[in-house]
Amino acid sequence: MATQEKTTKPAKKRYYRKRVRIFNLIDKIKLWPSQTGQLHGIRSIEIMGDTARLTTHCNKEFLINNSLNSRAGRWLRNKWFVNVCPKCRVPDWKLEKYSSTLFKRHQGSMLIKNKE
Ligand SMILES: [Zn+2]
Repeated sequence: MATQEKTTKPAKKRYYRKRVRIFNLIDKIKLWPSQTGQLHGIRSIEIMGDTARLTTHCNKEFLINNSLNSRAGRWLRNKWFVNVCPKCRVPDWKLEKYSSTLFKRHQGSMLIKNKE
């Protein structure tokens, strides 16, 4: 009997605008790179104007600004991280989805609700 091979379908590519609102992006991908380069899974995002409170699955809280040029915004778009938080237990499919996400200047969703 042949060993069952894991069929890995090529992940569907997703395109988001480079200038997508960072809060919307986090709300969508539910990942967040901390300052130490650790990628956390986001349990909830609470938006308060230009600030948002992120709660990770490992029960950390981060207050972030809605700045496109913030460190984290750059890291998210460039997919820079050192390691994945072991406590957050980010599933592989989520990381695969993230790695197949591309940011384009003129193509993709701005992630604005009801206007896509
Ligand atoms: Zn974590």
